[in-house]
Amino acid sequence: MSDNENAFYESSVGFDSNRIRAAAVYCSDGRFGEQFDDLLHNKLQLPRYDRLAVPGGAACLAGHFATYREDEGVFEQLRFLVNVHGLEQVVLIAHDGCAFYSERLHISPLQLETQQRDDMRKAVRRVRTLSSSLEVRSFFARKYRKGMIRFETVDL
Ligand SMILES: [Zn+2]
Repeated sequence: MSDNENAFYESSVGFDSNRIRAAAVYCSDGRFGEQFDDLLHNKLQLPRYDRLAVPGGAACLAGHFATYREDEGVFEQLRFLVNVHGLEQVVLIAHDGCAFYSERLHISPLQLETQQRDDMRKAVRRVRTLSSSLEVRSFFARKYRKGMIRFETVDL
């Protein structure tokens, strides 16, 4: 027995080994993490969904030349999840003011949302090439009033 109370931490959350066969691809930005979970868990009814959190989210599936290495990596990671975890659904989420677009892709604030929506459409088409039976949905997370996030469906 260790007398060091920091030697372990036992989670009070039970483990459920059943796979939900869904994954979400979204930006790593932790400020949006709780809201992403809220959308997936409560609105879309997808508990225990697989998470593919990368800077920019679906931006890395839209074929930008500047980020082709990330693009390849994310696409292969998603392919793995589709094949090994038997995914049937993929949810893509972009968010307001994403720093990946301004810092990595050098998109101006005025063009940002248009570019993100464009990328979501490209990413959806790309993800669908992984499996013809895959259901792919996409959302845009918007800060719409102080401290609150609203998810809008992105038309494809
Ligand atoms: Zn972001």
